[in-house]
Amino acid sequence: MLVSMETGVNDAIVIGGGFAGIAAACRLAGDGHRPLLIERAPRLGGRASSFVSRETGESIDFGQHVLMRCCTTSTGFLLRIGLPDAIRFQPTLSVPIVSPEGRTLLRSSAFPGIFHLAPALLRFRLLPFSERVRVLRAGLALALTRARTDRSFAEWLAAHGQSPAAVERLWDPISIATLNAPSDAVGLHAARKVFRDAFFRPDGADLGFFTFSLSEVFTAARRYIENRGGTVRTSDGVRLLIVEEGRIAGVELESGEQFDSEAVVCAVPPPALEKLAGSDGPLEPILEAASRLRWGPIVNLHAWFDRPVLDEAFSVAVGSPAQAVFDVTQLHGGSPGGLTHVVLSQSAADEWIDRPVEDVSTSLLNALGELFPAVRAAKPCRTLVLRSRQATFIPEPSVDRLRPRAPTPIDGLYLAGDWISTGWPSTIEGAIRSGIVAAAYVEERLRVDRLVDDGDE
Ligand SMILES: Cc1cc2nc3c(=O)[nH]c(=O)nc-3n(C[C@H](O)[C@H](O)[C@H](O)COP(=O)(O)OP(=O)(O)OC[C@H]3O[C@@H](n4cnc5c(N)ncnc54)[C@H](O)[C@@H]3O)c2cc1C
Repeated sequence: MLVSMETGVNDAIVIGGGFAGIAAACRLAGDGHRPLLIERAPRLGGRASSFVSRETGESIDFGQHVLMRCCTTSTGFLLRIGLPDAIRFQPTLSVPIVSPEGRTLLRSSAFPGIFHLAPALLRFRLLPFSERVRVLRAGLALALTRARTDRSFAEWLAAHGQSPAAVERLWDPISIATLNAPSDAVGLHAARKVFRDAFFRPDGADLGFFTFSLSEVFTAARRYIENRGGTVRTSDGVRLLIVEEGRIAGVELESGEQFDSEAVVCAVPPPALEKLAGSDGPLEPILEAASRLRWGPIVNLHAWFDRPVLDEAFSVAVGSPAQAVFDVTQLHGGSPGGLTHVVLSQSAADEWIDRPVEDVSTSLLNALGELFPAVRAAKPCRTLVLRSRQATFIPEPSVDRLRPRAPTPIDGLYLAGDWISTGWPSTIEGAIRSGIVAAAYVEERLRVDRLVDDGDE
């Protein structure tokens, strides 16, 4: 029987309360099961979690998260947990690109199919006209290319006539924003996925911004699970997986409590999985491959100004130390204390991650002032630097060989997490998809077990 020692009701255990584990638990709860979700941290959300500022009471997200309209499983998940308005999508893709030399707009047009961005690229003022035409040609070739290859995206771009300026001003900003690494660090395969699912579809790349702090998503998810008879435990991690004769039998928590279960979803990143499984057990080949995944940092500077400083809620900087610029006050429709909350999000942040906080703040505020003159007249009342050292894995050329599928050699144990093989980069969408896939395996497992139980009677 599948029974929890504590309550006698949970029929599956999910370890890890990031988007992957939450998606798995919500799926199970929504389909009539009673999952037990166990999260080590005091709050749900993992890398997408938030904390409450002691000074202002504001809920601040560790990472400024953006989705694109192609992230359909994420929007489906938010609908399922009762948050249809959690994301506001742009009516059409429109990204202001700012640089110290001027500004241009990457905006979708009425042109059909993959040509929807052609007019914007032909007007892309940050490159000479001849280069814009070459960018269009490369875009077409990228849409048509089929070969699976271990080439880097940068090699492919060079082979298709893309100049260093085109890479620096267009291709790398897109690669860094979507894959957390520049084109020479990512595989062609990963870049092609982003372009095919998002930019080559008229609405695939429309940006979606959360209309409130992500903590509200996790509050709603918790409510969804608990209202359906599931249980959410926080502040107590799993210490080890209990495996008997090659089958999962339950888990032991750091507090020493044990829970039996014949179906467990493990939705934690590879180092945490290694601690749970030990390094020389049946998961060893999975762990060995996963240890070769390279993870990249993201650094965010939060700045609160005494007045509005940005016209747009979101823009991308090129030719500047700054990258993505968010006006959180506009995105969330207000900010405690009437201040203007701006976030500068630095992806592929290897050069920022170990710099002193003061240095990060000063450099990025100066860069912001260079891009937006209104910033220079405003007073930054407070700043905060948040660093995520292992924010996402980098989709290097051979990455697909390192990502395991959900089933494991341990019967009844399934893996989830953004790093599992979903075809998606290290994103909320990848995490949610992995959780739903793992939940589907658990459901199948529970169904089969029930049939076998019935047969025994
Ligand atoms: C700064 C930043 C910005 C980002 N921006 C974006 C973006 O704009 N768009 C996007 O789509 N994605 C973005 N991402 C990536 C996205 O946040 C992740 O892909 C996603 O949140 C991963 O979810 P996950 O559930 O797979 O893993 P995690 O969020 O890492 O969750 C794993 C959970 O397991 C828990 N855990 C570990 N060990 C144990 C244990 N023994 N017992 C119990 N619990 C345990 C951890 O505490 C954690 O909560 C960003 C990430 C960062 C850090």
